[in-house]
Amino acid sequence: MPTRSLFVLFAMLIAVGCSPNANTEQSAAPPTATTTEESPVVEAVPDNDASQTLFTNVRVWDGTSDGLTDTTNVLVVDNLIHSIGPDVSGGDDAAVIDGGGRTLMPGLISSHVHLTHTLVDGGIPGLNAMTWEDIGAVATASAKEYLMMGFTTVRDMGGMADGFKRAIDKGLIEGPRVYPAGAYIAQTSGHGDLRMRGQPNAQLTGIQYSNLERLGIIRIADGVPNVLTAVRENFANGAVYIKLHAGGGISSEKDPLHTIQYTIEELRAADVATRNWDTYFTVHAYTTPTVNLALDAGAQAIDHGQMVDENTIKRMAKQGTFLTSNLSGMSEGLLAHPLYGNPANPQYIKTKAFMAASKNFADWVKEHDVKWSFGDDMVLSTQVQFRQLVDHEKWYAGELFGNHFALKGMTSTPGQLAQLTGQTNPYPGTLGVIEEGAYADILVVDGNPLEDLAAIGAYGGWFDAEPRSQNVENIKLIMKDGKIYKNTL
Ligand SMILES: [Zn+2]
Repeated sequence: MPTRSLFVLFAMLIAVGCSPNANTEQSAAPPTATTTEESPVVEAVPDNDASQTLFTNVRVWDGTSDGLTDTTNVLVVDNLIHSIGPDVSGGDDAAVIDGGGRTLMPGLISSHVHLTHTLVDGGIPGLNAMTWEDIGAVATASAKEYLMMGFTTVRDMGGMADGFKRAIDKGLIEGPRVYPAGAYIAQTSGHGDLRMRGQPNAQLTGIQYSNLERLGIIRIADGVPNVLTAVRENFANGAVYIKLHAGGGISSEKDPLHTIQYTIEELRAADVATRNWDTYFTVHAYTTPTVNLALDAGAQAIDHGQMVDENTIKRMAKQGTFLTSNLSGMSEGLLAHPLYGNPANPQYIKTKAFMAASKNFADWVKEHDVKWSFGDDMVLSTQVQFRQLVDHEKWYAGELFGNHFALKGMTSTPGQLAQLTGQTNPYPGTLGVIEEGAYADILVVDGNPLEDLAAIGAYGGWFDAEPRSQNVENIKLIMKDGKIYKNTL
């Protein structure tokens, strides 16, 4: 859901029926590559001992083009795409998968997730009551959910160090590649200040009363020295880029939406510290003043930004700023919710104000060709709500931007965003495209996603959507890093 700003929005939205983790779903079929009877001739395969998977009879969407290729073959060797073409074949031991004329495309990327508290019960108080066991369990379940929805990479925008990522990379648990931001960094009373009301400030008392601070989910830092320490502490814990909160949220308690958070000096300090690490920082910011403040300070990425004016959109386009926005909070569908759709509630007023301020956002982003990336920002939800939201978010991206632009925002554009992590990049290869040499993060789907996003599980319903299992029917095969995690072909 929307996010930290909207984050709370959704958070509450979500609080409506929570009983997380009824992990009873059937998981997708285990990895099973079909082996072929006939052994194609080896052509230009460098290492016959390498693990090979040959996809035949597929039409490729490469992550950027506005159409599919004719039927062709794709050879994966180890964890990379080795070659693409109708005459491409594999070695004697290659596993051959007949795509049956289906679409082969890049694995999806969600550039704004929170693995540690996607599936948390009880809203903000529930979040504050989490133990490390809760966090590990929730993150494990969330990671599997994302992978089964076709996301082979996620950008974790706050709330985890890299321990969880390493467990995935080692193959101990199943999940996408993770780019962790580390703890939320926020000023006192900022959007990431998720302390319970009345908990003293550790910067004043020297004692961390907040469970979320102790667990490293949030880091409250005021002033240049403390911001520098917070940024560097996140790096010490495995963050590969940094997220700060530069503006207010929609239904948060301590930070009205109009507020500007952090000074230019504090943000510049974060800019220097991240550039020194050869990476970048992004900010949570919705409004024209907050987004421009961050850009003035050197931000190369913005998260949210739906309430900015057209000049700010043009500025981001001109500077090549990466913009990640969750969209469903702009959807009239939200008004079907009893909390946000009831004019008697204050949240209704804020929701309507947000919708009004963001009504031209998508048109401007597309017109000025901003480097936009998909992010679902789901937090504090049940499994059912999680799936409903992400399916809706995929669909709504297509409604607002058209399927081609939306799909680029789920693949090649965030693949470029990943490159901003420079020498800090934990996955330094090419992500988000189907091309020779890129990571073998691959989906095989039923249908042409450029024509209908249902091919990747998009669905126009939302709260009223029929609860589904973990299996997204039209996503037939999921491969990450050359390994198959689902195959129902
Ligand atoms: Zn968020």
